[in-house]
Amino acid sequence: MRLVFLGAPGVGKGTQADRVTAQFGWPKISTGDLLREAVRNQTALGIEAKKSMDAGKLVPDSVVIGMVRDTLAAPSCQKGFVLDGFPRTVPQAEELQAILTGRNLKLDQVINFRVSRHDVVTRLSGRRSCPKCQSVFHIAFAPPKIEGQCDRCGASLIQRSDDKPETIEARLKVYDEQTAPLIAYYQAKNLLSDLDGSGEMAAVYTRLSALLLGLGAQ
Ligand code: AMP
Repeated sequence: MRLVFLGAPGVGKGTQADRVTAQFGWPKISTGDLLREAVRNQTALGIEAKKSMDAGKLVPDSVVIGMVRDTLAAPSCQKGFVLDGFPRTVPQAEELQAILTGRNLKLDQVINFRVSRHDVVTRLSGRRSCPKCQSVFHIAFAPPKIEGQCDRCGASLIQRSDDKPETIEARLKVYDEQTAPLIAYYQAKNLLSDLDGSGEMAAVYTRLSALLLGLGAQ
């Protein structure tokens, strides 16, 4: 299946996309992960993108669209994929449609994760990430076995620079202004399914996999 996971930062799209990949095999394509990798590798693109990311703003459409176009061309994406964090603007959505149409493909569904604003802020501000293996923890909901240390590789956990309170506020404002219009955009195309993203990760996944199986996923 070709899926888009839509929702504000912190709704759990990335975590749930990992689970979908594990169960159904469609790779996750996270533009945030691709950009963070470019930042770590200090590529020209990464150095430029970091300024927008640290300010909680969007990286220019042309940059992310180029990354997604290249990734979608990979053989691993031919049977399906889960886009996490893309598209985030109407021009990105239009470009995605053009890329897929050019390959005689179409999106199967857009899953709109719904979580209260209060819960989103709690999830983002408590999130801790491993700078080495990219595992993600939460100080209250998914704490590491040893405080401050990654369970998987032992590296010291960090708080993403864009998970600091001032930046969280900026990111949510950007979501409201630039990304939320995609809900109506995909609704009009009859592609949108709402998903209650509140509560524990496992409970959310039970709802999500039931939804996907109902849509014919296998
Ligand atoms: P995420 O991990 O999806 O929350 O993304 C982290 C940051 O990467 C965002 O706050 C943006 O600065 C940038 N970013 C990720 N995806 C996109 C996108 N589709 N368009 C523009 N900027 C993006």
